[in-house]
Amino acid sequence: TFKAWVIEKAEAGQSLSFHDFDEADLMDGDVTVRVTHSGLNYKDGLAMTGHSPVVRRFPMIPGIDFSGVVEASDHPEYRPGDTVVLTGWGVGETHLGAYAEKARVKGDWLVPLPEGLSPAQAMAIGTAGYTAMLCLMALEHHGVTPKDGPAIVTGASGGVGSVAVALLARAGWHVLASTGRADEEDYLKSLGAAEIVDRAQLSESGKPLAKERWAAGIDAVGSTTLANLLAATKADGAIAACGLAQGMDLPSSVAPFILRGVSLLGINSVTTPGRKRREAWARLASELDLDKLAAMTTTVSLLEVGGLGERILAGGTRGRTVVQVA
Ligand code: NAP
Repeated sequence: TFKAWVIEKAEAGQSLSFHDFDEADLMDGDVTVRVTHSGLNYKDGLAMTGHSPVVRRFPMIPGIDFSGVVEASDHPEYRPGDTVVLTGWGVGETHLGAYAEKARVKGDWLVPLPEGLSPAQAMAIGTAGYTAMLCLMALEHHGVTPKDGPAIVTGASGGVGSVAVALLARAGWHVLASTGRADEEDYLKSLGAAEIVDRAQLSESGKPLAKERWAAGIDAVGSTTLANLLAATKADGAIAACGLAQGMDLPSSVAPFILRGVSLLGINSVTTPGRKRREAWARLASELDLDKLAAMTTTVSLLEVGGLGERILAGGTRGRTVVQVA
């Protein structure tokens, strides 16, 4: 057996508890990993609290990402002792997840730990930081550049947002960091933000087209905030949308698309093919300033993470939270 957080169906909703889990009850997979680190992501908050039905199988071990050491492998690419990273693929949702000392997964889901990153740093980046890189790659692929104007990041003090600010600043963008936490101005400027935008300016419904303010954006918030981002995007600019911290809805119109040629780029980190994953991780290893990464990271123990679901959903965690398992 090994220790794990386990979500079980209860009469009313679900229960979350920390207990011994039998290795024989792990799900199918050709690689068994001794988990050393995990991360706390918004989706883990949804899973642990049951606020949204992200868990599709019970019992479920929550935790959508991990780093660790291969213990046993029938996969040609992985051998015992290899260090690996996993994000997505339904781990912590449909497949037993990361808040545990052990995980068994498909080897095809894994990425070798990128050179230059420790297992702890890989989870300081985690799903959130990796998604921020996918957003940057989508903006670059679209062809928008720092010469075209500023870039806005919403939910800037959160996990996706903090990494997005650091990556965009490093890539030469004038970064506008939108946050509801005025007291995090120094933190966001230390990551590379040039200006702070009060998120209240963006969260109320506005006009379908507004004054053009930015050429690009990374949005972790959705809803009216994303609608307002689109409305104030410069002609031929683009917004990469990855999140729903404000809501799933998008009360917008086609005006920004057909009158300004603005593009909305959708980002899904869960099923990104292996090649693009490795490219994103390689870029994170070389482009993310590790001092900035350390400044945005808080570390908790495996025992503590079970109590943090409500806090991340309430926007009460800053930057990234690493879960130290081993
Ligand atoms: P997080 O650390 O909690 O960050 C979310 C941030 O959004 C908060 O820190 C807060 O930033 C802001 N926020 C929270 N509630 C808000 C509200 N009601 N209105 C406006 N802003 C609000 O979470 P995360 O792990 O970075 O994830 C961010 C979002 O991206 C989540 O929705 C998550 O599900 C999504 N995501 C999607 C993918 C994908 O594959 N598409 C991957 C990873 C994450 P401030 O305090 O600075 O305002």
